[in-house]
Amino acid sequence: MTAVPNPKPMPASTERESSGRYSGWRLLLEGLAGQRGWSRAWAKALPRPRYRVVIVGGGGHGLATAYYLASEYGISDVAVLEKGPIGLGNVGRNTTIIRSNYFLPDNIRFYEYSLKLWEGLERRLNFNAMVSQRGTLNLFHTEAQRDLFTRRANLMRLLGVDAVALSREAVQALVPLVDLDNGRYPVLGGFLQPRGGTVRHDAVAWGYARAASDAGVDIIEHCEVTGMRRDGRRVTGVDTTRGLIEADTICLAVAGHSSQLAAMAGLTLPIESHVLQAFVSEAIKPVLDVVVTYGAGHFYISQSDKGGLVFGGAIDGYNTYGQRGTLPVAEEVAMEAVTLMPALARVKVLRQWGGVMDMSMDGSPIISKTPVDGLILNGGWCYGGFKAIPAGGMTTAHLIACNAPHPLAAHLDLGRFAAGRTLDERGAGPFPYAH
Ligand SMILES: Cc1cc2nc3c(=O)[nH]c(=O)nc-3n(C[C@H](O)[C@H](O)[C@H](O)COP(=O)(O)OP(=O)(O)OC[C@H]3O[C@@H](n4cnc5c(N)ncnc54)[C@H](O)[C@@H]3O)c2cc1C
Repeated sequence: MTAVPNPKPMPASTERESSGRYSGWRLLLEGLAGQRGWSRAWAKALPRPRYRVVIVGGGGHGLATAYYLASEYGISDVAVLEKGPIGLGNVGRNTTIIRSNYFLPDNIRFYEYSLKLWEGLERRLNFNAMVSQRGTLNLFHTEAQRDLFTRRANLMRLLGVDAVALSREAVQALVPLVDLDNGRYPVLGGFLQPRGGTVRHDAVAWGYARAASDAGVDIIEHCEVTGMRRDGRRVTGVDTTRGLIEADTICLAVAGHSSQLAAMAGLTLPIESHVLQAFVSEAIKPVLDVVVTYGAGHFYISQSDKGGLVFGGAIDGYNTYGQRGTLPVAEEVAMEAVTLMPALARVKVLRQWGGVMDMSMDGSPIISKTPVDGLILNGGWCYGGFKAIPAGGMTTAHLIACNAPHPLAAHLDLGRFAAGRTLDERGAGPFPYAH
């Protein structure tokens, strides 16, 4: 075994070192020079006693918020506190789908903004996140579902968003794996969003962390927030496993742990935590070059660039902080997979895992001030927070920097629940299992 040189000592936040620009040219030069010129992608910052902004949670939304605060609003006196290593929360556990095919006009605008930010993200972050706009296809199986999807597609097109109706024959040509006449729920057609697709999830966390760190943000890993300090109505700091850290503004971006963290500040949120499972098969030759969603159940599937089929279904439907899930849901997902694509019956599942989902009570997220002064909430992402990371980060940064909601996220305020203005994105009512 060759000796590995000692890793560089963890630099304090004052000893920040940029990771430099990544390029093909640099790769070549580093190859010739023995790969000695690379430095850490982001500095391992030590916590300081006080910051202007503390962001709790080093997932996609926390890191993106920090990056946009520094790069768009000139606020770099920011710390991101992450209880574990960056990228091991839902940002690294999801099935990587991005799209903007929503029903409510305000949600379409928000998610479309996110999709547009994805389109320029790799160049902006100088990081390969493998953004792949291979298309997302929603299948429909009844005339009522055709009507519903047509309404959604028309709304999207009125707002300038791409949506294409596909006949049965066009679906078959695009996805030969689908059994159109499967005995249970024959496929009548589909709606394609050609600009939807997938992005390599953990690269998103790494790319934002690197860019935020280069912009002056302290990324502090292994720093769990255990308590919240208040002075009257105002939040003043957080207790952490690495000591007290004070801040003018504290932003919660902890996804499935939103209720837990909010409770530390004395708040109850309309958010439940549920586990959502995902599955990856053994690598097989290319068979699927579009993301497919089954309309007669809750099953969706894509093929990763490594060849594995990546698929999932619905939440398990009970409150938990577990990250594994139960067998009945795995069986349900497998049944739906084989109903839609019988050839999958012979494919072996290689890995399965779960993530703790922050299910809001109307199926839409929350980007908002809270009744506690200085405490900002980014959460309630339900099934779809990955695709929203760029827009969620940008609009949360705007809210913190400007002390007013971003116009594209104003409808996502927490006050809607108390006022009865719930968003009802899927018309399914206030029940997370039905979102
Ligand atoms: C199986 C699965 C499939 C999914 N598929 C998709 C998909 O295809 N498309 C899509 O758009 N969305 C998808 N999602 C949803 C999406 O992944 C999430 O909505 C999104 O990642 C949540 O935001 P985040 O990245 O900031 O969360 P996270 O990455 O979970 O970040 C929150 C962070 O907070 C940290 N934290 C928690 N408590 C504390 C504390 N006390 N102190 C410090 N840090 C703390 C956690 O460790 C975590 O790193 C999926 C989710 C799962 C689980």
